[in-house]
Amino acid sequence: MIEARSRQVVIAGAGIAGLTAALAFAERGLPVKLFEQAKQLQAAGSGLQLAPNATRILRRLGVL
Ligand SMILES: Cc1cc2nc3c(=O)[nH]c(=O)nc-3n(C[C@H](O)[C@H](O)[C@H](O)COP(=O)(O)OP(=O)(O)OC[C@H]3O[C@@H](n4cnc5c(N)ncnc54)[C@H](O)[C@@H]3O)c2cc1C
Repeated sequence: MIEARSRQVVIAGAGIAGLTAALAFAERGLPVKLFEQAKQLQAAGSGLQLAPNATRILRRLGVL
C-alpha cells in the first residue's frame, strides 16, 4: 500500500494510458499532476480498440 500523503504522482502524456493512470492513482487518494505536451488533444483514427482487461478497468473507474 502506497502512503498517500507523502507521494506525488507525475504523469507525462494525456493519452488513454496517462489519463487512466491518473484516474487510478487519484481514486486511491494520491495527488496527481498530469502534463501534456500538445496544445490541444485530438482524436486520431476511427476509435480505440480496447481489450476486455482494459475495458474492465475503465468501467471500474466510471469512464467506459
Ligand atoms: C494516426 C493513428 C491512427 C490510429 N487509429 C487507431 C484506431 O483506429 N484504433 C485503435 O484502436 N488505435 C488506433 N491508433 C492507436 C492508438 O491511438 C494508440 O494505441 C493509443 O492512443 C495509445 O495510447 P497511449 O495513451 O499509450 O499513447 P498516446 O495516445 O500516444 O498518448 C501519449 C501522449 O503523451 C504525450 N506526450 C509524449 N511525450 C510527452 C512528454 N514528454 N511530456 C508531456 N506529454 C507527452 C503525447 O503528446 C500524447 O498526447 C491510432 C494511432 C495513430 C497515430
